[in-house]
Parts: sequence; structure tokens; C-alpha cells
Amino acid sequence: MKVIGYTYDADHHCESCMLDYARKVPTSDYAGGWGKPDFDDEYYHDSPGILNLARLVENEIIRDSEGNAIHPVFDTEEWYANDIYEGNKTATLGCSDCGTILDTWESDE
Ligand SMILES: [Zn+2]
Repeated sequence: MKVIGYTYDADHHCESCMLDYARKVPTSDYAGGWGKPDFDDEYYHDSPGILNLARLVENEIIRDSEGNAIHPVFDTEEWYANDIYEGNKTATLGCSDCGTILDTWESDE
């Protein structure tokens, strides 16, 4: 099972765009309050003073703009795209920010 992308803000995104998003979330949005990580905790750092954004996302500390968790999408998951319903033999799932193709579906028929 492999992670092909992420869902947040009601859309699919590639890993690069997800990390760009996470980087722009102000630390004050997730640090220092109840239920928030102890920033002395090495678990949340790559090295002293350098936060591991992927780990903060994985632990639902950095969330999307609506406060929801950012979820990984696995290659074993089903996804839907409008072009599947249009009778096409193939359909693609793309990053809603940059257009990178995350997955391709091919009809068995
Ligand atoms: Zn992207």
C-alpha cells in the first residue's frame, strides 16, 4: 500500500502541495494550546528547531483550513472523477493545485 496523495479542503493534493500548504500554516495556529504538542518533544522535530511537517500532519496537529485532519490517500482506495461517468475507458486523479497525476484508472470493459 502506497500513499498517492492527500485530501484536505475538500479536494485531492500531491505530497509537494500538501507540504507547501503545511509550511504556510502559522505555528501559532497549532502550538502552545491544550492538546497541542510539546515543542520540546524531539518526536516533532527533524533536528533541534526544525519541525517535521509531515509528522505534524500525520498526527492531525496541522489541519486544513476548516480544521479537519489531512488524510493520506492510498493506491488501494477508490476515488471518483467526472471523466469516469462520461463513459471513458480511462480516468485520472490529479492534484487540484498543480495538476500532477496522482492515479490513473482504466476500465476492465
Ligand atoms: Zn500538487
